[in-house]
Amino acid sequence: MKLQTSLLLAVSSLLLPGLVQAQGNFDNVEYEVSDLGHGIYMLVGQGGNIGLSVGEDGAFLIDDQFAPLTPKLLAAVRSVTDQPVKFVLNTHWHGDHTGGNANLAGKGALIMAHDNVRSRMAAPGDQQSPKEALPVITYSESSTYYLNGHEIHAFHVEHAHTDGDSIVVFKDANIIHSGDVLFNGIYPYIDLGSGGSVSGYIAAMEKLASLCDDSTRIISGHGPAGNKAAVRKSLKMVQSAQDSVAALVKQGKSLEEVKEANPLAKFDDEWSWAFINTERFTEILYNDLSQ
Ligand SMILES: [Zn+2]
Repeated sequence: MKLQTSLLLAVSSLLLPGLVQAQGNFDNVEYEVSDLGHGIYMLVGQGGNIGLSVGEDGAFLIDDQFAPLTPKLLAAVRSVTDQPVKFVLNTHWHGDHTGGNANLAGKGALIMAHDNVRSRMAAPGDQQSPKEALPVITYSESSTYYLNGHEIHAFHVEHAHTDGDSIVVFKDANIIHSGDVLFNGIYPYIDLGSGGSVSGYIAAMEKLASLCDDSTRIISGHGPAGNKAAVRKSLKMVQSAQDSVAALVKQGKSLEEVKEANPLAKFDDEWSWAFINTERFTEILYNDLSQ
């Protein structure tokens, strides 16, 4: 089962290098910078959405996309502040969230993340990161930063998108970076091969929703900026999709039979996208239930 998952990932990565691996051409990527107020910005380029806090203590980035994009990312940062990037927090280990680490560390930034981000990035293999890219400060549960006038809480949610996810909360500003705990308006990718799980993902989304009031703004991992209603809507879809697949698994159906029955057909129009289409999300749900 594990081999199947990583094979699938390899195939999908070839088809859509933008999300998972730093292959391909980034020439046409342009950063879109949205001002959320309180000196906090959402940066959309290619890969996981970036959070930026600016102020007297320096630029603080949440995730940094792909290595070849660093010059463009820094230009986007310079469009709102003269301060250097001093801190980078990774919400998890995937390359579209950590690819810029080595470049930014080389310019003096401190890289920080959950323990499992570092251990997965450091693990020998074809996805091993260079030493310069590794977080130099890690935490097992949570960490708090007092920067740019904010109290910023990063806390771990277990076995969700991966086994090293953090949600980052700017308490006073009422702004949250969800990491990949929210794919806003599209099927989420749940990386079972990196310690993610569907039940953990659901629990993490419930936790995320519980941190929001009606005016909270969320920098999603992928998709547009979100809010509590968007989390609830996505949560409802994932729960319902899991129930639909679970009913067939309970009947002893094979993966092929489940795909044939297509229990997620009702979600296809609204939630399917290039990287995670309905078939792929069905496979993730099936494999999770069969683990
Ligand atoms: Zn991810």
